[in-house]
Amino acid sequence: MKTACSKSWTDVNIDFANRLIRNCCRSKAYPMPDDYDIDFFNNSPQIQQRRSSTLSGEQHPDCAHCWESENAGIPSYRSQQNKWKDFSSVTRDPHTTYIDVTLDTICDQSCLYCAADTSSQIAQEEGVPIRDDGTEHDFETFKRWVSTLSGSIVFNFLGGEPTASKRFAPMVEYINTLSVDAQFEICTNCNTKAPMMERLLKTIRSSGKPWNISISNETFGTDAELSRYGLDWERFKTNFVTYATTPQVKNITLAPTTNALSIRGLADYIEWVHETMLTVAPDKSFSWHGSYITRPSVIDIKNLDTDHRKHIVRAQEVYARYHNQHTKLQHAERFKQYLQSMHDRIGTGFSHTTVKDFVLDKQQVKNQDLSKLL
Ligand code: SF4
Repeated sequence: MKTACSKSWTDVNIDFANRLIRNCCRSKAYPMPDDYDIDFFNNSPQIQQRRSSTLSGEQHPDCAHCWESENAGIPSYRSQQNKWKDFSSVTRDPHTTYIDVTLDTICDQSCLYCAADTSSQIAQEEGVPIRDDGTEHDFETFKRWVSTLSGSIVFNFLGGEPTASKRFAPMVEYINTLSVDAQFEICTNCNTKAPMMERLLKTIRSSGKPWNISISNETFGTDAELSRYGLDWERFKTNFVTYATTPQVKNITLAPTTNALSIRGLADYIEWVHETMLTVAPDKSFSWHGSYITRPSVIDIKNLDTDHRKHIVRAQEVYARYHNQHTKLQHAERFKQYLQSMHDRIGTGFSHTTVKDFVLDKQQVKNQDLSKLL
């Protein structure tokens, strides 16, 4: 039982645009077949087999991401996210409480570290087809499945940019007709234009449900506009204040993905967020939930030289100055640990700007002359 994880029972992550399904965002993705029924989402033979196998203590290959960490003796995603301590009465049946949905890849930005299979804007720039493979059968089967669920369920909409998807508002409206106790979340670039923002606010207000707005950004001003290409910084600030002051928005999550292009502005962004929250919404709950870019590896901060740690030190100083001033800041310690881990990550990698660099770097750890490959 020591390998079981609640997320194998509770989570369903559906990427309609690329027709992929996971049960947990860190587990293996499976392609969606052409024909399937409602059991496919959280009661398929493959997820049942994973539940059985982990209840027997096996390290199921779907969860390789976690076993890699645990076998190396470092905290895994499972160690932070598993919500159940006792699995003795757990069966193979699903217990769905969290559904994240990518309806399509429509997006108005083409961030430098994003890719064509996630942003329609990048697909257009690169002259490749926009990924929008979800079929009517997929959406209808999903709706039929959701109508069978009960209890409290979080629906998290991802993209692309969910607020730009024509499917988003109708899907929220449909879920609202069901008896399920829904909470809604979106992960947004906060760049939504005024008319669409108006439509979104109408959806939020009329849902009568609590919303969590997760905001993707990690830097400030022009750096944000250039690295998160297509972003209008003034619009970002206006939308941020709108979310912070909308009563139905119960919580804001700041979701920076630290990378080499944005690291110098992280401290300014943290300062701006804290000042803004103190000024416009001192009673609104908010938290930071950081991650980092690993691909392309050239902008992974591990490949920066250690001099760049000064940017994180500045971010740590700013955060230390502000975090005690907010009574509504959640998980304050978690972000402190995150900043320290970003500090420690810098300078731990190799920079692969050419094939020659890559091979010569590998040579150091392989302890063998690989130069014949060049
Ligand atoms: S073990 Fe890891 S990958 Fe598997 S469900 Fe849990 S958190 Fe996800």
